[in-house]
Amino acid sequence: NKKDSASSSTKSDLRSPICCILGHVDTGKTKLLDKIRETNVQGGEAGGITQQIGATYFPIDAIKTKTAVMAQFEKQTFDVPGLLIIDTPGHESFSNLRSRGSSLCNIAILVIDIMHGLEQQTLESIRLLRERKAPFIVALNKIDRLYDWQVTPNNSFRDSFAKQSRAVQQEFEDRFTQIKVALAEQGLNSELYFQNRNMSKYVSIVPTSAVTGEGVPDLLWLLLELTQKRMSKQLMYLSEVEATILEVKVVEGFGYTIDVILSNGYLREGDRVVLCGMNGPIATNIRALLTPPPSRELRIKSEYVHHKEVKAALGVKIAANDLEKAVAGSRLLVVGEDDDEEDLMEEVMDDLTGLLDSVDTSGRGVTVQASTLGSLEALLDFLKDMKIPVMSIGLGPVYKRDVMKATTMLDKAKEYAVMLCFDVKIDKEAEQYAEEQGIKMFSADVIYHLFDAFTAYQAKLLEARRKDFLEYAIFPAVLKTIQIINKRNPMIIGVDVVEGSLRIGTPVCTVKVNPETKQKETLVLGKVVSLEVNHKSVDIVKKGQTNAGVAVRLENPSSAQPVWGRHVDEKDNLYSLLTRRSIDTLKDPAFRDTVARDDWLLIRSLKTVFDIK
Ligand code: GDP
Repeated sequence: NKKDSASSSTKSDLRSPICCILGHVDTGKTKLLDKIRETNVQGGEAGGITQQIGATYFPIDAIKTKTAVMAQFEKQTFDVPGLLIIDTPGHESFSNLRSRGSSLCNIAILVIDIMHGLEQQTLESIRLLRERKAPFIVALNKIDRLYDWQVTPNNSFRDSFAKQSRAVQQEFEDRFTQIKVALAEQGLNSELYFQNRNMSKYVSIVPTSAVTGEGVPDLLWLLLELTQKRMSKQLMYLSEVEATILEVKVVEGFGYTIDVILSNGYLREGDRVVLCGMNGPIATNIRALLTPPPSRELRIKSEYVHHKEVKAALGVKIAANDLEKAVAGSRLLVVGEDDDEEDLMEEVMDDLTGLLDSVDTSGRGVTVQASTLGSLEALLDFLKDMKIPVMSIGLGPVYKRDVMKATTMLDKAKEYAVMLCFDVKIDKEAEQYAEEQGIKMFSADVIYHLFDAFTAYQAKLLEARRKDFLEYAIFPAVLKTIQIINKRNPMIIGVDVVEGSLRIGTPVCTVKVNPETKQKETLVLGKVVSLEVNHKSVDIVKKGQTNAGVAVRLENPSSAQPVWGRHVDEKDNLYSLLTRRSIDTLKDPAFRDTVARDDWLLIRSLKTVFDIK
């Protein structure tokens, strides 16, 4: 039970925290990574910063150098051996750094462009971070773009800020405040990191410039501070392996390989490992553990350095047999002496089968296909949030058989006869088949583009449906005759709308008991072809809208129009003609949102008038 101490020596029992960068496109994620990776100029040395597989490793000495300017503001502690930063910024890698739904990323940097504020993918990122309960800090980037910003390269933010004119400081304050408000609207309290007195409740904001390097020392200092102070437990070395597959790649001379982030424990050449495959579990032996050569010059000659053993945290490439169907985002388990391989296989497949919980049990919904477990999980989370049911899920490229699953929706629910394909290849034959069958395919590698396209499509379908069923969409109305204006050809009546609303196109009727048969009869006077209030024509008249009365012109092409004075007269209540079908039509998604609560209540009370069950 180790307590944090202020000792500046590296604690051997802590491993390096893993850090991920995410945010909207063009906010400067890549540039920020480059700037962090940049070695200090004076030394000219790499400072031990090493490029690994899918990640860059910063040993504590490199961080010490880079954060030296922070000494005048903050106490510094260096308990962890270093920091591992994932090289590919964005949702994708963050989503794949997962283990049973929780995140292996110890701390994330959410980059926001100070000139643009919160953008679409910023919101997506916030959702993802929340869902995975991943701690994060905000880099408020591009501060050098504030008008007239005076640059001091690689300086601490506070020192640089103090050197700015009042006007620059004011612009910063204004933009910062706006962004703080926008974050609060997302349910996030935030504070400039050095004014943040409650790191567990408030998100820390670090102003940065990826171009000038200002604020980068602050960012690194804060990453260390937060991980060391707040998560030393998670950073304890374990003997148990914790590893996740970031990518599956073909490498010349090695065949299929997997790029793995080892976040805890050791991996050794020859280890028996188990992982999730697209068509079932994969068990194989590690043939080679590879990292890139330490320096750029060497990188040209030799491709990879082989290791007998590697220790967390690091990014490493694994060569082994049978990796072709390996699923990115899957955990990698090592089969120990006492382990039952079958048990581990089952456990590792839980990563995929667990996601089946998101599949709608009614068998209605869209079909979803994604490239990795992480992105599939993220996509399912979003769909759940948008209340879009999912019928079937899949991983990897889309083939004809995947499209065939979606065709079952053509009869059941046409709006779901859709495939949402996230970051996957679509086979030519599959595409053709989808087109023949009328399955709509949406494909994108940005989640919100997928949703925008899908929601636009749904809106279009609904609009078409509204048109098709318009004649059955009859809103409830109760009318009282004030005056008969014209008895026949056309019938024109002055009425008062007592309940509901009367619209163009609505059939108007009365309901009477036939004295001979004692049966209820519905007499249709005709369809409303025009409505006039005070000699002005309108499309709809609602109850209480006018006390002047409404002139209604009714047309009934059949010869069966009741005769005014004989079959119907001023004493009879008039109604819009409700049927089982008209009620069901209003319940359809195409109309549901246009029906008010009062309308439903009125429909309910009119059911007895029409004897509708
Ligand atoms: P990403 O899409 O988030 O990875 O964004 P990039 O790192 O590719 O940056 C997008 C653009 O913004 C590039 O033209 C960068 O040069 C520029 N950029 C990034 N960070 C900064 C910054 O701090 N200041 C300024 N002035 N430009 C930046």
